[in-house]
Amino acid sequence: MLDVSGLVAEYGPVRALDDVDVEVAEGSITAVLGVNGAGKTTLLRAISGLLPPKAGTVRLAGRDVTRRAPEDLVRLGMAHVPEGRGVIVELTVEENLRLGGLWRKDKGWLRTGLSRMYELFPPLAQRRSRRAETLSGGERQMLAIARALMSRPELLLLDEPSLGLAPRTAAQIVATLRTLRAETGLTLLLVEQNAGTALSVADRAVVLNLGRKVADDDAASLAADDRVRRAYLEM
Ligand code: ATP
Repeated sequence: MLDVSGLVAEYGPVRALDDVDVEVAEGSITAVLGVNGAGKTTLLRAISGLLPPKAGTVRLAGRDVTRRAPEDLVRLGMAHVPEGRGVIVELTVEENLRLGGLWRKDKGWLRTGLSRMYELFPPLAQRRSRRAETLSGGERQMLAIARALMSRPELLLLDEPSLGLAPRTAAQIVATLRTLRAETGLTLLLVEQNAGTALSVADRAVVLNLGRKVADDDAASLAADDRVRRAYLEM
């Protein structure tokens, strides 16, 4: 589904990502792990077009999409939920969801999509007419994910969905991601600081350190790898 090769990204003189390869199989959940500043957020931004990479290629379902604009990528089936949620707080829950479906040509989807999102995230159904600024952190995260899902992506990039949430809320969100994958075959690339949470839901994981990939394996093997855990995962 996603094939990233030799990706390099820089912020001025700072090289934040150096020659990174990542493959994400269709229908899989892949976690991107690593300590603060490892380059995880930069990897997602370079894939989704928010930060044009200096070198390397990004292929989505076989098509070269390197340096395509984020809105083009949404049309091609890639959605990105950035760190810090990215919902529009002045709008209501339902207005945010409708915005997420704006690019869809199949207008019948809007109604189906809204009821699907309310089914997946019941707290949003109860708050559909409230402004997003009145939501709790967990509800905002649900809204950000649901809004991205309204574009009916094949690949969802998620940056730190459990950041700042109570463990119970984080667990609920992770469980919903599992349901989604099982029901829709959605492919997920998930950035997480909390390696334990990520490895419990992911099939595979890559570990970044100082912008380079230092491990790439199935999630169970990585969780059992003491060297990687001690050196890069604070587990
Ligand atoms: P975090 O969990 O803190 O978000 P991360 O693994 O996602 O960490 P990145 O945010 O990708 O790491 O940062 C990678 C490197 O790039 C770090 O050295 C960081 O200081 C640097 N960096 C990130 N954003 C910028 C920016 N806007 N300008 C300059 N340097 C940046």
